[in-house]
Amino acid sequence: MSLVILDLEWNTAFCKELNKYVNEIVEFGAVKLDDALKVIDTFSCLVKPTVAKEIHPQVQKLINISFEEIKNAELTFPYVVDKFAEFLGDGTLLTWSNTDLHTLIDNCELHFMESNLPFVSSFCDLQKYCEYSLGVSSANRMLGLSSCAQVLGFVEGDSQTHRALDDVMLSLKCLKALYNRRHFEEFIETCDEEFYKKLRFKNKYITNINNPHLDRQQLFFDCPNCNVRCVRKSKWSKKNNAMHAYFVCPECKESFKGRLQAKVKYEGVVISKKMISAK
Ligand SMILES: [Zn+2]
Repeated sequence: MSLVILDLEWNTAFCKELNKYVNEIVEFGAVKLDDALKVIDTFSCLVKPTVAKEIHPQVQKLINISFEEIKNAELTFPYVVDKFAEFLGDGTLLTWSNTDLHTLIDNCELHFMESNLPFVSSFCDLQKYCEYSLGVSSANRMLGLSSCAQVLGFVEGDSQTHRALDDVMLSLKCLKALYNRRHFEEFIETCDEEFYKKLRFKNKYITNINNPHLDRQQLFFDCPNCNVRCVRKSKWSKKNNAMHAYFVCPECKESFKGRLQAKVKYEGVVISKKMISAK
């Protein structure tokens, strides 16, 4: 089975019918890879806009495409997505993070009132795979494509050109550098109902210490100096999606502010804790 890396560029435009801003896809870029990650086919296509009348000034700062170019493109989204579906075939779709997937779904909704992607059978989030391979925890920060390329020593500074095919080639370079077939295959997901449920799930934060979904066993902090359990000295308070309280170490008597963040993900509650010296 082949792998297809896809990158999309999009423009923001106000859609009168929906009375809201939409991210209208303006370019598709993709490569098809064989088992040895060799490029066996390329897909590159500009999309003629049906909503936008210009490139949004904020978007123009990011992408290297003029409105003139897309206005003169041959095909509108429904035709381009059809051609792409044919290109993908039964291959696995790969994108950097799932943002492109969300945008692709939004555009399909806009044109076909379809909220799934029936032409995609399996998917792999390249960002997740690269974060795993580099040992970067996504709980901290998302690894951008150009950051990943920098970490791997390919380029200095921001190397994303924001032209679809260039960014696809950069993603491929990262994948090649970190590829381990056995590990990679564990990141391939089947695009079933469960997949879309998970994709649509919006992460939330628990900010009430009495929330029943919060594991009470997790509400402790150990002194970083003495490694003994600290004693809570204040009530819990809420701040910026997290909960805080003051603690004191019974050994060294140092005071700490404990910050506890409880993120509700599709898979369950993920807790991260941090201690800040109160001095
Ligand atoms: Zn201590």
